Amino acid sequence: MSDNSEGRKDNGGGSGGARRRPMGGPPGFRRPFFRRRKVCPFCADKSLKIEYKDPKMMGRFITERGKMVPSRITGVCAQHQRGLAKAIKQARHIALLPFLVK
Ligand SMILES: [Zn+2]
Repeated sequence: MSDNSEGRKDNGGGSGGARRRPMGGPPGFRRPFFRRRKVCPFCADKSLKIEYKDPKMMGRFITERGKMVPSRITGVCAQHQRGLAKAIKQARHIALLPFLVK
C-alpha cells in the first residue's frame, strides 16, 4: 500500500500566501479599536440582581427609546441577557419601562 508517490500537480502558480503587509505604520502606534474588556456586570457583581421591578438597573441595558441594548455593547453574557430580556419584558408589561419611545 505504498502508493504514496502519486505526483499531485495542482496549481503550479505560486501566488499563495503572499500577503502584503501594510506599510507605513505611524510612529505613535495606537490601537485602532480600543476595546475595553467587558465583563458581564451581573457576573461580576453578585449583588446585582436582575429585577424587573428595578427600572434604574435596567436603564443601563435599554436605549433611551426603550429598545434593548445588544449584549455586545453592554457586555452582558448570554445567560444574563436572557434573564434581562425577560425582566425588561415584564417591566414593560407593568409599565415600568416603555415599549417604544418615539
Ligand atoms: Zn453574566
